[in-house]
Amino acid sequence: MSKLKLHPSLDSGIEPSSANFSGGTLQCLCPTDKVEIRIDAQTLHNHACGCSKCWKPTGAKFAVVAVVPRDKVSVTANAEKLVIVDESATIQRHACKECHAHMYGRIENKDHAFYGLDFVHTELSPQKGWAAPGFAAFVSSIIETGTPPEDMKEIRGKLRALGLEPYDCLSPDLMDALATQVAKLNGVLASR
Ligand SMILES: [Zn+2]
Ligand SMILES: [Zn+2]
Repeated sequence: MSKLKLHPSLDSGIEPSSANFSGGTLQCLCPTDKVEIRIDAQTLHNHACGCSKCWKPTGAKFAVVAVVPRDKVSVTANAEKLVIVDESATIQRHACKECHAHMYGRIENKDHAFYGLDFVHTELSPQKGWAAPGFAAFVSSIIETGTPPEDMKEIRGKLRALGLEPYDCLSPDLMDALATQVAKLNGVLASR
Protein backbone atom coordinates (compact mmCIF):
# COMPACT_ATOMS: atom_id res chain seq x y z
CA MET A 1 0.00 0.00 0.00
CA SER A 2 1.29 3.44 -0.79
CA LYS A 3 1.35 6.18 1.81
CA LEU A 4 -0.95 8.31 -0.26
CA LYS A 5 -3.90 9.43 1.87
CA LEU A 6 -7.28 10.22 0.34
CA HIS A 7 -9.55 10.70 3.36
CA PRO A 8 -9.81 8.94 6.75
CA SER A 9 -13.15 7.35 5.86
CA LEU A 10 -11.71 5.96 2.59
CA ASP A 11 -8.15 4.96 3.52
CA SER A 12 -9.03 2.14 5.89
CA GLY A 13 -11.88 0.73 3.82
CA ILE A 14 -15.37 2.11 3.32
CA GLU A 15 -17.99 1.45 6.02
CA PRO A 16 -21.11 -0.03 4.43
CA SER A 17 -24.50 1.68 4.69
CA SER A 18 -27.07 0.10 7.02
CA ALA A 19 -30.49 -0.84 5.70
CA ASN A 20 -33.26 1.01 7.55
CA PHE A 21 -30.83 3.66 8.85
CA SER A 22 -32.93 6.75 9.47
CA GLY A 23 -30.51 9.46 10.58
CA GLY A 24 -28.52 10.72 13.53
CA THR A 25 -26.42 13.65 14.64
CA LEU A 26 -23.34 15.49 13.43
CA GLN A 27 -20.99 17.15 15.89
CA CYS A 28 -18.27 19.72 15.21
CA LEU A 29 -14.67 19.05 16.25
CA CYS A 30 -14.55 21.40 19.28
CA PRO A 31 -13.61 19.57 22.50
CA THR A 32 -16.52 21.19 24.34
CA ASP A 33 -19.65 23.17 23.41
CA LYS A 34 -19.92 21.28 20.13
CA VAL A 35 -22.22 22.49 17.42
CA GLU A 36 -24.72 19.69 16.92
CA ILE A 37 -26.94 19.05 13.92
CA ARG A 38 -29.74 16.49 13.79
CA ILE A 39 -30.52 14.76 10.50
CA ASP A 40 -33.82 12.89 10.40
CA ALA A 41 -33.12 10.81 7.29
CA GLN A 42 -30.56 8.62 5.56
CA THR A 43 -28.22 10.63 3.31
CA LEU A 44 -28.09 10.38 -0.52
CA HIS A 45 -25.39 10.63 -3.21
CA ASN A 46 -22.52 10.36 -0.76
CA HIS A 47 -19.24 10.86 -2.63
CA ALA A 48 -15.62 11.92 -2.43
CA CYS A 49 -15.16 15.49 -3.70
CA GLY A 50 -11.87 17.04 -4.79
CA CYS A 51 -13.11 20.61 -5.21
CA SER A 52 -11.44 23.40 -3.26
CA LYS A 53 -14.64 24.47 -1.43
CA CYS A 54 -15.85 21.34 0.34
CA TRP A 55 -14.52 20.86 3.85
CA LYS A 56 -11.71 18.34 4.20
CA PRO A 57 -10.28 17.08 7.48
CA THR A 58 -6.58 17.90 8.02
CA GLY A 59 -4.33 16.05 5.58
CA ALA A 60 -7.15 14.72 3.37
CA LYS A 61 -7.03 15.20 -0.41
CA PHE A 62 -10.78 14.75 -0.73
CA ALA A 63 -13.89 15.76 1.14
CA VAL A 64 -16.59 13.15 1.64
CA VAL A 65 -19.96 14.81 1.23
CA ALA A 66 -23.59 13.68 0.92
CA VAL A 67 -26.95 15.39 0.55
CA VAL A 68 -30.16 15.24 2.56
CA PRO A 69 -33.46 17.13 2.23
CA ARG A 70 -33.11 20.48 4.00
CA ASP A 71 -36.31 19.98 6.00
CA LYS A 72 -34.62 16.97 7.65
CA VAL A 73 -31.74 19.10 8.98
CA SER A 74 -31.91 21.04 12.25
CA VAL A 75 -29.33 22.70 14.48
CA THR A 76 -29.76 21.28 17.97
CA ALA A 77 -26.84 22.79 19.96
CA ASN A 78 -24.50 25.80 19.93
CA ALA A 79 -26.02 27.39 16.82
CA GLU A 80 -24.37 30.72 17.74
CA LYS A 81 -20.99 29.27 16.71
CA LEU A 82 -22.08 28.80 13.08
CA VAL A 83 -20.94 31.22 10.38
CA ILE A 84 -21.37 31.15 6.59
CA VAL A 85 -17.97 30.56 4.98
CA ASP A 86 -18.71 32.43 1.72
CA GLU A 87 -22.02 34.27 1.37
CA SER A 88 -21.53 34.58 -2.40
CA ALA A 89 -21.03 30.85 -3.08
CA THR A 90 -23.84 28.78 -4.60
CA ILE A 91 -23.65 26.49 -1.59
CA GLN A 92 -23.68 28.45 1.65
CA ARG A 93 -21.49 26.38 3.92
CA HIS A 94 -22.32 26.83 7.59
CA ALA A 95 -19.15 26.16 9.58
CA CYS A 96 -18.16 26.24 13.24
CA LYS A 97 -16.19 29.45 13.68
CA GLU A 98 -13.89 27.79 16.24
CA CYS A 99 -12.95 24.40 14.76
CA HIS A 100 -13.89 25.29 11.14
CA ALA A 101 -15.75 22.02 10.47
CA HIS A 102 -18.52 22.53 7.93
CA MET A 103 -21.79 21.42 9.50
CA TYR A 104 -24.16 21.85 6.56
CA GLY A 105 -24.15 23.54 3.16
CA ARG A 106 -27.39 25.04 1.87
CA ILE A 107 -28.48 26.34 -1.55
CA GLU A 108 -30.81 29.36 -1.31
CA ASN A 109 -31.34 29.77 -5.08
CA LYS A 110 -34.74 28.15 -5.72
CA ASP A 111 -33.91 27.70 -9.43
CA HIS A 112 -30.88 25.52 -8.70
CA ALA A 113 -31.26 21.82 -9.57
CA PHE A 114 -30.11 20.87 -6.06
CA TYR A 115 -32.32 23.39 -4.23
CA GLY A 116 -33.90 21.66 -1.26
CA LEU A 117 -30.88 19.49 -0.54
CA ASP A 118 -28.32 20.28 2.14
CA PHE A 119 -24.71 19.06 1.89
CA VAL A 120 -23.36 17.25 4.96
CA HIS A 121 -20.25 15.36 6.08
CA THR A 122 -21.39 12.25 7.93
CA GLU A 123 -17.85 11.52 9.17
CA LEU A 124 -18.82 14.07 11.87
CA SER A 125 -21.43 11.66 13.20
CA PRO A 126 -21.00 9.31 16.15
CA GLN A 127 -23.53 6.94 14.52
CA LYS A 128 -22.68 4.26 11.94
CA GLY A 129 -24.81 3.28 8.97
CA TRP A 130 -24.91 6.44 6.88
CA ALA A 131 -24.90 6.06 3.08
CA ALA A 132 -21.47 4.90 1.88
CA PRO A 133 -19.63 6.98 -0.73
CA GLY A 134 -20.41 5.81 -4.27
CA PHE A 135 -18.21 7.83 -6.63
CA ALA A 136 -15.57 10.57 -6.70
CA ALA A 137 -16.29 14.04 -8.11
CA PHE A 138 -14.04 16.92 -9.20
CA VAL A 139 -11.02 14.62 -9.00
CA SER A 140 -8.75 16.76 -11.22
CA SER A 141 -9.45 19.76 -8.95
CA ILE A 142 -7.11 18.42 -6.24
CA ILE A 143 -4.26 19.67 -8.44
CA GLU A 144 -5.54 23.21 -7.78
CA THR A 145 -4.95 22.75 -4.05
CA GLY A 146 -1.43 21.35 -4.41
CA THR A 147 -1.52 17.70 -5.50
CA PRO A 148 1.27 17.07 -8.06
CA PRO A 149 -0.28 16.21 -11.45
CA GLU A 150 1.98 13.14 -11.71
CA ASP A 151 0.19 11.61 -8.70
CA MET A 152 -3.19 11.61 -10.44
CA LYS A 153 -2.85 8.21 -12.10
CA GLU A 154 -2.19 6.54 -8.76
CA ILE A 155 -5.01 8.49 -7.09
CA ARG A 156 -7.56 7.54 -9.76
CA GLY A 157 -6.37 3.93 -9.42
CA LYS A 158 -6.91 4.00 -5.66
CA LEU A 159 -10.39 5.47 -6.07
CA ARG A 160 -11.33 2.77 -8.60
CA ALA A 161 -9.95 0.07 -6.28
CA LEU A 162 -12.36 1.39 -3.61
CA GLY A 163 -15.24 1.16 -6.08
CA LEU A 164 -15.41 4.95 -6.49
CA GLU A 165 -15.48 5.81 -10.19
CA PRO A 166 -13.47 9.04 -10.59
CA TYR A 167 -15.18 11.92 -12.44
CA ASP A 168 -13.69 15.34 -13.11
CA CYS A 169 -17.03 17.07 -12.58
CA LEU A 170 -20.04 15.31 -10.98
CA SER A 171 -21.36 11.84 -11.78
CA PRO A 172 -23.46 11.45 -14.98
CA ASP A 173 -26.69 11.26 -12.92
CA LEU A 174 -25.99 14.57 -11.21
CA MET A 175 -24.71 16.27 -14.37
CA ASP A 176 -27.94 15.16 -16.08
CA ALA A 177 -29.98 16.65 -13.22
CA LEU A 178 -28.16 20.00 -13.56
CA ALA A 179 -28.59 20.07 -17.35
CA THR A 180 -32.25 19.07 -17.09
CA GLN A 181 -32.88 22.01 -14.77
CA VAL A 182 -31.15 24.39 -17.21
CA ALA A 183 -33.30 23.02 -20.06
CA LYS A 184 -36.47 23.53 -17.99
CA LEU A 185 -35.49 27.08 -17.04
CA ASN A 186 -34.78 28.09 -20.65
CA GLY A 187 -37.94 26.41 -21.95
CA VAL A 188 -36.30 23.67 -24.00
CA LEU A 189 -37.87 21.00 -21.78
CA ALA A 190 -41.36 21.17 -20.33
CA SER A 191 -41.38 21.24 -16.49
CA ARG A 192 -42.43 17.94 -15.03
ZN1 LIG B 1 -16.49 23.52 16.53
ZN1 LIG C 1 -16.78 19.77 -3.40
